Amino acid sequence: MARESTRVAVLGAGPGGYAAAYYAADLGMQVTLIDEEKNPGGVCLYRGCIPSKALLHVARVIDEARHAVRWGVAFAEPAVDLDTLRAYKQGVVDKLTSGVGQVGRLRRVKYLQGRGTLTGPRSLAVATSGGETELPFEHCVLATGSHPTRIPALSLDSARMLDSTSALELPDVPTSLLVVGGGYIGLELGTVYATLGSAVSVVEMTPGLLPGVDRDLVNVLQKRLEKLFSRIMLNTKVVKLAEEADGIRAGFEGEGAPKDGLFDRVLVAVGRRPNSKIPGLETTRVRVDAKGFIETDGQRRTAEPSIFAIGDVAGEPMLAHKASHEARVAIDAIAGRKAVFEPLAIPAVVFTEPEIAWCGLTETQAAERGVDVESAKFPWGALSRAITVDRPEGLTKLVLDRRSGRVLGVGIAGSGAGELIAEGVLAVEMGATAEDMRLTIHPHPTLSESLMESAEVFFGQSTHVYKPAKGLRP
Ligand code: NAD
Repeated sequence: MARESTRVAVLGAGPGGYAAAYYAADLGMQVTLIDEEKNPGGVCLYRGCIPSKALLHVARVIDEARHAVRWGVAFAEPAVDLDTLRAYKQGVVDKLTSGVGQVGRLRRVKYLQGRGTLTGPRSLAVATSGGETELPFEHCVLATGSHPTRIPALSLDSARMLDSTSALELPDVPTSLLVVGGGYIGLELGTVYATLGSAVSVVEMTPGLLPGVDRDLVNVLQKRLEKLFSRIMLNTKVVKLAEEADGIRAGFEGEGAPKDGLFDRVLVAVGRRPNSKIPGLETTRVRVDAKGFIETDGQRRTAEPSIFAIGDVAGEPMLAHKASHEARVAIDAIAGRKAVFEPLAIPAVVFTEPEIAWCGLTETQAAERGVDVESAKFPWGALSRAITVDRPEGLTKLVLDRRSGRVLGVGIAGSGAGELIAEGVLAVEMGATAEDMRLTIHPHPTLSESLMESAEVFFGQSTHVYKPAKGLRP
């Protein structure tokens, strides 16, 4: 067995793991990054955020082209060449993963392609194609990610069944697609397939799409999805799946849902589970909670002082940017710097069309926690840029401390919301008030003005919306 030692070993090379490894190298540490893929990237780059966004971009172009008929420009229906589309998506993935690999090599991060097993609190064994390597470390960062939840009742051994990974491979454009789960993945991939021509039906077991997200934001998207999808079944469960000669028959239970339906394909997207069944974890004192997340402290240190955990395996929300932020905290802690993971706002974006994005405190959370907030909303129907691009259905809102006007949260539904939310995150993190936001000059005509005008709504002085303030404000 080969033997190499390292100061920091990082297990898992997704946006958490590679960010940790590269930052550690930037701080002068000797680092080994371990993953089974040829290059770093993880689920996000290979089978998640990135390929889905490439496909959603194509869906958006198709949608715009169809919509253009309203402006007097009629295009023919698109002829979709699936091989070229898959190649485009794969090219995006290859470019990014090889680029990320390259910047790792430039930093002299040692990349071990293989499967790691913990052999104790200070050592790993890595099985590579060339044999096993023993890897003693001073510190290890576990960044092993998550996998799609499998529900036995929804697990049918059939080529017609899809999960988020196989759906991104775009095996075909099925005539009909049943999407189980009205969350991020179900709605994003449902949008791709519906735009390419599938009749998409969505089943969501809770009373609304995107549970937990403020309803006024979801409503903006839902209106659009009701036109794009054939059917949205809320408060509904799939109770049975059975393969027949022409498809999969799904049995439903829920208000207003049909008894059953036949679908070409079924995509199950009902959440993700942490990959905490790390081989050899039992040789350490690392603890796993009831939901399967590795328990960590504010620096992302586990109960085993030499081992840290970040990203999906270390808790919600399971988002790449939360993982890469935790990566810096953990490495700072290893370097002996002062660091703690205590963001006020972690942005979340659903990349549908329109997009939904939010950060900080939501109105729903404020009500649950009894926080006295006032939300100031600016409808995009009064937003010049939204009108010029014929996307007036959006909404921007600030969730403000009623007395001080401090921005506690921001929610946006509309085209490009995912780009706009960054300003909201900065406002929340910097403790900005509605006054700060209205005094900040925003470029005209842009969608970003909706943030400034929402702040003006709080004062009853929005130029483009006549809505007197609820009380006198300075
Ligand atoms: P999710 O938690 O967003 O949504 C799952 C949905 O399935 C929920 O609405 C839930 O109520 C519903 N559900 C659960 N069991 C069901 C059942 N038996 N029948 C019908 N509905 C059922 O999960 P996801 O869409 O699988 O995504 C997983 C995670 O991946 C997300 O939580 C997110 O962290 C991440 N993700 C993020 C993005 C993004 O940032 N844009 C995109 C995709 C995935």
